[in-house]
Amino acid sequence: MQGGARESTADTGEKIVPKEYTPEDLVAIWEEFLGGQEMRHNVNAIADFYPDVRSLYVDFSAIERFDPDLANYTLIKPVISIQSAEEAMRKMISHALTNPFIHIRIRGLPSDSRIDIRKLRAKHLETFVSVEGLVRKATEVRPKVTVAEFECMRCGAKVFVEQEGMQFREPLECSKDEGGCGRGSGSTRFKLLMDKSQFVDTQKIEIQEPPEGLRGGAQPERLAGYIDDDVAGKVSPGDRVIMNGVLKSIQKGAQTKSALFDLTLNINSVEYEEHEYEEIVISPEDEMSIREFARSTDSFDKVVASISPTIYGYFQEKEALALQLFGGVTKLMDDGTRIRGDIHIAMIGDPGTAKSQILRYMATLAPRGIYTSGKASSAAGLTAAAVKDEFGEGRWTLEAGALVLADKGLACIDELDKMNDQDRSSIHESLEQGTISVAKAGITATLQSRCAVLGAANPKYGRFDENRNIAEQIDLPPALLSRFDAIFTLTDRPDAEYDRNVAVHILKGHRRGEIKLHESPETIPGMDVSQIMSDTEIFLPAMDIEFLRKYVAFSKRLIPVMADDAMKTLESYYVNIRKLGEGEESSVPITARQLEALIRLSEASARARLNPIVTAEDAERAIKIVEYYLNKVASEGGRRDIDIIATGTSKSQREQIYVLRSLVQQLADERRGVSLEELIQKAASENISEERVRALVKRLSDAGEVYSPQPGYYKLASEERMA
Ligand code: ADP
Ligand code: MG
Repeated sequence: MQGGARESTADTGEKIVPKEYTPEDLVAIWEEFLGGQEMRHNVNAIADFYPDVRSLYVDFSAIERFDPDLANYTLIKPVISIQSAEEAMRKMISHALTNPFIHIRIRGLPSDSRIDIRKLRAKHLETFVSVEGLVRKATEVRPKVTVAEFECMRCGAKVFVEQEGMQFREPLECSKDEGGCGRGSGSTRFKLLMDKSQFVDTQKIEIQEPPEGLRGGAQPERLAGYIDDDVAGKVSPGDRVIMNGVLKSIQKGAQTKSALFDLTLNINSVEYEEHEYEEIVISPEDEMSIREFARSTDSFDKVVASISPTIYGYFQEKEALALQLFGGVTKLMDDGTRIRGDIHIAMIGDPGTAKSQILRYMATLAPRGIYTSGKASSAAGLTAAAVKDEFGEGRWTLEAGALVLADKGLACIDELDKMNDQDRSSIHESLEQGTISVAKAGITATLQSRCAVLGAANPKYGRFDENRNIAEQIDLPPALLSRFDAIFTLTDRPDAEYDRNVAVHILKGHRRGEIKLHESPETIPGMDVSQIMSDTEIFLPAMDIEFLRKYVAFSKRLIPVMADDAMKTLESYYVNIRKLGEGEESSVPITARQLEALIRLSEASARARLNPIVTAEDAERAIKIVEYYLNKVASEGGRRDIDIIATGTSKSQREQIYVLRSLVQQLADERRGVSLEELIQKAASENISEERVRALVKRLSDAGEVYSPQPGYYKLASEERMA
């Protein structure tokens, strides 16, 4: 490639002086290019539809084929080169001659112009760069004045001022050269003539580095940019884009000017990345080893053994996490509804049960995984927000939260119980539909958040109390909890055997870590290092992590279909459990939500084996996981009751609530109501414990069904409601 000169610009920092052109030459050579074989057709198409279509997209490689010098010049001096190109185009489209809105948008910049946001430096200023990232913020589209026309209030002359940047510029004088009176801005006033001035639509956006470039927990860096005219408004937060544009600096500080400058990008063109796994390249050799791996009988076990190998135990949990990586099949039904394939998992547990550790591991393992905390500090939180702050420069900004940024990936949300109220109310939509809607001020938008969620939370009072039902101890609304396909509770009770195993595992892990830091471990005195290392090979992931990521990416392309026996297995499991709930006295043991969870888990199991058919074996694996967690979470006194997670109230609790309400009604004094003490005393004869009475009274008053006429006394809020 003749662009040899260009190749050195990005890395060595030496600016190779490009071939020089006179302004006329530059326009002429662009005209030649645009009129040539390759482009002429496209230019004509624009001429036909102008001004509805006013951007000509040009692949960089086409310029390079035409003239490497011009291509090189465009990379180093993009502003003048593109201006000349637009000038040339205007000449070719006669009715656009005086119209400023015609654009040459160049895409497909060479890889040495592709710069990571964190590597942008002064040497890149004013050059054409290509930056990849996730759109985090986008403002409303608003007009910006490009050429302002003023009238001198003294003599009536017209004065034009070209506007650049974000500061509005007014005339300094009523220029005599242009027929004005020559007065300076001190001795006359200028009136802006809105209808004569030119405006262009603009939008400001912010992109951040894509998560997969950030292994090791680094914070993503960000870059703001401006989009003009017909491209404005096309980008939404959460999009993965490549922005091609001219890197500019803006001076920091509004009042006192600073010597420091901030970077922004004047965006020339936007390219979209559409394929979720394209960042993972799978070669034909990879494909062979993937297929070979899938054929071995223990392939799924190996995947499971690669999930957080430093964490002891949690076999069922790890199996579910492995299935979550692969995910079920997202379906579009004939009536247009979408049924998610993403598998959501919640882990609720005592402190120190390795939840955070597991989440962080999964975020690095999963393609497009991100790790975040529920109490995120940004305005967007987990979902999205419309904000009016400095960034928008007076416009509203739509900002994407974690679930949008994890679109088509895995969102690992630690401390889910700490999320803010806004997230609480909008997270359902994300979990179920894979979208987040924002309607505030001038902004109404629906952002994509088709991600699987792995959430972790602590019990409400810090630690599980095994005597209470679990939903009461989870600080998450039941409506949210029941959206999870699997809910694991991790309790940390002293248990001699388990404790010893965990201790041994942790100790061995740490010793292995110590030894691994030594350059020549053989020299550590009095230790059989090789024995220790081979003893602790379980700490190695059972498969190469890069290979696992490829395996996952490859399997996700597969769309497995349920075999008859798999359907039968799931059907009879569901029907049999539902039967338990048929009697008057019984609880509803399981709902259709668990059936869908079972289907997703079975599909994921087939994918994990790279099997196009979901078999009974896959269904059994899914059932095992659902049984395991339902036993822990949704049973009360040995009886299965899904209402505990579906509504937060078990059947027996519901009965107790009725009893308590009627007690309040019977005992309440017209004026004062009934005291809590009296309620507790009377409820005891109905076999309701004091603790339960307190909890239920609180729940009734939270729900507005009872109220306190005075502290410690309760009355029904509305007598009629009892009827
Ligand atoms: P949590 O987020 O549940 O409060 P952490 O992830 O912070 O807990 O875990 C605390 C520490 O204990 C971590 O360093 C983790 O590796 C260790 N740990 C806890 N349980 C296990 C286990 N079963 N096996 C190995 N290490 C464990
Ligand atoms: Mg934690």
